[in-house]
Amino acid sequence: MPKYQAVRGTKDILPADAVFFQYLESVARRLFRQFGFHEIRTPTFESVDLFSRLLGETTDVVQKEMYVFEDRGGRKLSLRPEGTAGVVRAFVEHHLSQTSPFCKLFYVGPMFRAERPQAGRYREFWQIGAEYFGNASPPADAEMLVLLETFFKVLGLPNVKLKLNSLGDAQCRPLYLEALKAYLKNRQATLCEDCQRRIDTNPLRALDCKIDGPTLVDAPTIDAYWCDPCRTHFTMVQELARGAGVAFVLTPRLVRGLDYYTRTVFEVTSSALGAQDALAAGGRYDRLVKEIGGPDTPALGFAMGVERAIQAFVAANGSPHSQPDRLVFVAAQGEAGAVEAFRLLQALRSSPELEAKGYVFEGGFFEKKLGAQLTMADRLKAVYCLLIGDDELAKGDVTIKKLASSQQQRVSQQDLVSFLVAAPLDA
Ligand code: AMP
Repeated sequence: MPKYQAVRGTKDILPADAVFFQYLESVARRLFRQFGFHEIRTPTFESVDLFSRLLGETTDVVQKEMYVFEDRGGRKLSLRPEGTAGVVRAFVEHHLSQTSPFCKLFYVGPMFRAERPQAGRYREFWQIGAEYFGNASPPADAEMLVLLETFFKVLGLPNVKLKLNSLGDAQCRPLYLEALKAYLKNRQATLCEDCQRRIDTNPLRALDCKIDGPTLVDAPTIDAYWCDPCRTHFTMVQELARGAGVAFVLTPRLVRGLDYYTRTVFEVTSSALGAQDALAAGGRYDRLVKEIGGPDTPALGFAMGVERAIQAFVAANGSPHSQPDRLVFVAAQGEAGAVEAFRLLQALRSSPELEAKGYVFEGGFFEKKLGAQLTMADRLKAVYCLLIGDDELAKGDVTIKKLASSQQQRVSQQDLVSFLVAAPLDA
């Protein structure tokens, strides 16, 4: 076993895995553009205070899962456990509410949580997320649902389920929490240690506790407590989403791990995943911007777990590339041939026409014997090997060897790009 290994709960994204990350990211970026979201990149650490204020002191994330450290100046910092807090901080800090009537942002990046690692659960994992500031009305909620649904459709993921609920607002949620607390108090003795503590601090979380959740079958649910404005808002969200073709399941027991949600919350799960089946989650957080001293701005967002989306994608589709790269290997013989081959290799790499056709170029092993260079081209599964020796050099030619058939022909350097552009894709 090597002396140094990736830290428990972290992993290397090797080139073969990176292809999937790139693919998912490119699909997401395309869709975000279509839906009017712009990228934001915030730091991977922030003050501890920001997270405990925004996510809630009593949440599991803040209490048990943050990577907290003190820097050399004695500042208490934490690696970000999620993306929303940093984006909200940046929104307020840079007065983004003033630059446009609304603000749509997305981010891609690693998050850090000291959870118990298991399949699909890591201590460093990637999220793609979106935040929409400045729209309090149902079309904003419905738009986020359409965006998520479209994303998973484009990825071709079957068996994806969108669960939808409303957690009410400052008017109606306290009434519901009282009812839920009373219910939990009645059965306090039967609850796990965490849920006994949650009765007063965070009773909603008892509903999705792995131990007690399934036993609380007759717990009151929020839908009976919505005030009229919350009910009207949520009805409209459903109508808009349904009208736009989004399939969802109303789930009155759906709660979220963080304190900041108001009204609409949602979660996407996939049956292609194991115990950790949540692909994405989010909701509305109308109080959050004001909470850290910003203008009173309604907002909502979601975050998707990239590793889990990849896992579901691989289960459904295998590889993302129907069209693999077309590799061309450049070989040479002799010192002058090597100089010319090196120049040609770099020139080919910078040709936009060849790039557009999916060509990539490799070479630079000119000191090896020609046979060894050809073997290398074979091992790399190159489509062609280009050869430059003394004779080719003298005539300004290149020998093109098609590796699958071992056929070869001479082409003048001038005609090389058009030859490759015109070559059939299966060549
Ligand atoms: P959350 O912020 O907890 O709602 O997480 C949003 C999404 O990020 C989840 O639906 C998962 O897909 C993903 N996720 C959360 N925690 C982890 C983790 N520890 N490892 C891998 N993915 C995670």
